[in-house]
Amino acid sequence: MSRNETLFNRAQTVIPGGVNSPVRAFGSVGGFPRFIARAEGSRMWDADGAAYIDYVGSWGPAIAGHAHPAIVEAVREAALKGLSFGAPTEAEVEIAEELCAHLPSLDMVRLVSSGTEATMSAIRLARGFTGRDTIIKFEGCYHGHADCLLVKAGSGLLTFGNPSSGGVPEDFAKHTLVLDYNNPEQLEETFRAKGDSIAAVIVEPFAGNMNLIRPSDRFLHLLRQLCSAHGTVLIFDEVMTGLRVGPQGVQGLVGITPDLTTLGKVIGGGMPVGAFGGRRDIMEKIAPLGSVYQAGTLSGSPVAVAAGLASLKLIQAPGFYEALEARTVQLVEGLQAAAKRHGVTFCAQSFGGMFGLYFADALPQSFADVMASDRNRFNQFFHAMLDAGHYFAPSAFEAGFVSAAHTEVDIDATIAAADRVFAGMA
Ligand code: PLP
Repeated sequence: MSRNETLFNRAQTVIPGGVNSPVRAFGSVGGFPRFIARAEGSRMWDADGAAYIDYVGSWGPAIAGHAHPAIVEAVREAALKGLSFGAPTEAEVEIAEELCAHLPSLDMVRLVSSGTEATMSAIRLARGFTGRDTIIKFEGCYHGHADCLLVKAGSGLLTFGNPSSGGVPEDFAKHTLVLDYNNPEQLEETFRAKGDSIAAVIVEPFAGNMNLIRPSDRFLHLLRQLCSAHGTVLIFDEVMTGLRVGPQGVQGLVGITPDLTTLGKVIGGGMPVGAFGGRRDIMEKIAPLGSVYQAGTLSGSPVAVAAGLASLKLIQAPGFYEALEARTVQLVEGLQAAAKRHGVTFCAQSFGGMFGLYFADALPQSFADVMASDRNRFNQFFHAMLDAGHYFAPSAFEAGFVSAAHTEVDIDATIAAADRVFAGMA
């Protein structure tokens, strides 16, 4: 038995499902997860010594590549000065200034330790600010695992075939209205009927947790317009897309400014950092200024913030996003060409360093489209690529990520492997 399998067996006796986050378990693709021993640049090595070119990137944070020397050094230096103080530090001010400079919607920002904390806090703040209870989310969008957001969500919940979670009281879920993603007519109708009772709309402005969907500009503009007209707080959940699709997130790409934005992943450079921020008048409702309580023992951890600041510095290097985007486009175009050569029904798209692959004949516009894609074919592709040393997300519902450490040669190697895999699928 391989060391990966032995570890998985051991893990399953002491950790539910053998993993500390469900999608890691390979539940929908089958087989056993790879236990990662180390990673560097675009590569990871598992417990049996097998090497992979990695397209998961820790689910987004590793935009500069794994174990980037500048990030590792920043972490080392910060750790030597003390791991945590429970008092403010200069580095927290610096990262807040950086984030406000990058994201057009941020006047003020507060740091937390995960994306879940960011979205949960943003919802509480929106409710406190408006004095309303009802929120809108969209089917297939995942915003972390706070109770009110685990209703018809994406990511791991979709992967395991149950988009809502047990343990969420109906009393909580009833305050969450779930609408179709990218359906302007339904959105208009809902606001016409209930607009003045809606505290917040939370949306992944490009959805990355039901594979990758870019909604119509009309949908996003209408969201902005309706929220402004009804005094509803518009929250862009850019935990995945912020600083990933471009330096200003989706809001910079599409030119729409939400009232609040949630961030995570890239801003921590691989360490646990999340953030929520936005309009000053809303942010000033948080304790200690206002009545909405939110706190964290390790919020703004000096070691995590050091990693985040180092990561933010790297992405500001001239040409960073151009190179990242060029590599990602190379991957997506190469995979599409290979599939076409072998007559395999497949399409793909990318934004910045983020991509989606679908075994379907057209790019998905909705949750229903993603559900209709050929998941058996995805599973076949996933395992064949993994065996060949190319690590894609173990679920047809997840977006993929390229890092600045991926070289043209890496991408060519992945395309060549995919060509062989598609040939076997034809
Ligand atoms: N929001 C989005 C859009 C996400 O993709 C995720 C995680 O994948 C979260 C929130 C939750 O973040 P975390 O896993 O750090 O709690």
